[in-house]
Amino acid sequence: MTTLQVKWRNLRDEYDFGSQTVKLPATIGRSKQNTVSLRRPGAGISRQHVQIVLDERGLLVRDLQSTNGVYVRGHQISEGYIPTGGTFVIGSYEFTVAPSVRCANWQCAKQVEPNLVICPWCGRFLADAQTHVGYSHPVKIKH
Ligand SMILES: [Zn+2]
Repeated sequence: MTTLQVKWRNLRDEYDFGSQTVKLPATIGRSKQNTVSLRRPGAGISRQHVQIVLDERGLLVRDLQSTNGVYVRGHQISEGYIPTGGTFVIGSYEFTVAPSVRCANWQCAKQVEPNLVICPWCGRFLADAQTHVGYSHPVKIKH
């Protein structure tokens, strides 16, 4: 099962940030029905803003006909592939997406940041854990 770590930060408020581990496909928006629901007034996020899906080419971010659109490297996109660790902007929020990794130590098995080398919980090298993710940068899926 592929899970994704979604992190966000408000570009207008350095104290407003968060993260969530989600299963794909996932949606982001203001409505509670979304996988990631951000209900900040005035942040420019639509009720249903984007969908994130995984296909054979990688992580695809798709604009769900939002009012303010989705931006990747300053360009508005209707849909596009996001590399591991890549970012996109909706409203005043910047999102970072990366596959979620579990520590390979079965006694630990904590969710860890994908780009860490050593598990912060048990100290194990995470090169082992990373092989369980199923894909790595550049984004390609092995079947
Ligand atoms: Zn660990």
